[in-house]
Amino acid sequence: EITCRDWSSDVCSSDLEGKEKTTTLELTYQQRFIQVIATPLGGELQDHTLLLCQDLTPIRRLETVRRDFISNISHELRTPLASLKALAETLQLSAIDDPQTSRHFLERMDTEIDALTQMVNELLELARIESGRVPIDLKPTDSYRLLVAASERLKMQAERAGLLLEVEAQPDLPKILADGPRLEQVLVNIIHNAIKFTSPGGKITVFAYPESGMVCFGVQDTGTGIPRDMLPRVFERFYKADQARSGGGTGLGLSIARHLVEMHAGRIWAESQPGRGSTFYFTIPQARP
Ligand code: ADP
Repeated sequence: EITCRDWSSDVCSSDLEGKEKTTTLELTYQQRFIQVIATPLGGELQDHTLLLCQDLTPIRRLETVRRDFISNISHELRTPLASLKALAETLQLSAIDDPQTSRHFLERMDTEIDALTQMVNELLELARIESGRVPIDLKPTDSYRLLVAASERLKMQAERAGLLLEVEAQPDLPKILADGPRLEQVLVNIIHNAIKFTSPGGKITVFAYPESGMVCFGVQDTGTGIPRDMLPRVFERFYKADQARSGGGTGLGLSIARHLVEMHAGRIWAESQPGRGSTFYFTIPQARP
């Protein structure tokens, strides 16, 4: 809803002096960028102005995402590199003479190297997926088995974190058309997040149910939750809703999950109540009998 007042000062026809004029409006409240082109008309339409309004919001958003992406990569790489540098220097200067301290430093260096390796692997995976170089092999796949397989992989980790991990689904769920290993990875990423963001004593429920030609999968936790305005952003690359708690995370897991789900013609979203927990859902088309 652009009111006359919003743009009249920029493109008011009396200011045009017969020339075309372009201006960009930022509607702060609606978070939209509108480009307005005012073209004075001639002939029979003398004294009239043609106004062309274009919504540039998606293009602007893409520019911002690209800019943020570069600065995020640099930032994310710099943190483990700076730790490695500090650890190596301390080791060189003094700790090397003390076997126990040096072992401890080497363990910490190993952890930092693992984090760097994971980030580079996830970046490569994301780049391959985004450039369409990841072939997906869609086959009729047992939904229930997929759910159980992903949960089993994380059962021990959940127990170690003091969490109850439960599967709630009917074993005779309809089959889905899916690339099994890739979709299992999506579930693993989401369950892994639920474990990371839930305090001991909490509960994680992995569920699935059929819904109008699709199977809807979900992971519910009783963890920290995600503020409402941040919910849609968690699927962006490098986005971390809670910088302090996300610790070793790269912020790439959910963007990879989103791409993979969309490659299956499915949809992924999240609901959350801060302080109470979150539920991540995704849908995958059922396989035709
Ligand atoms: P990360 O490697 O940081 O976990 P993701 O892309 O998997 O990256 O998740 C992005 C961000 O979304 C996380 O850093 C966290 O802030 C938020 N998030 C994801 N899952 C949950 C969850 N179950 N509970 C609370 N916050 C979550």
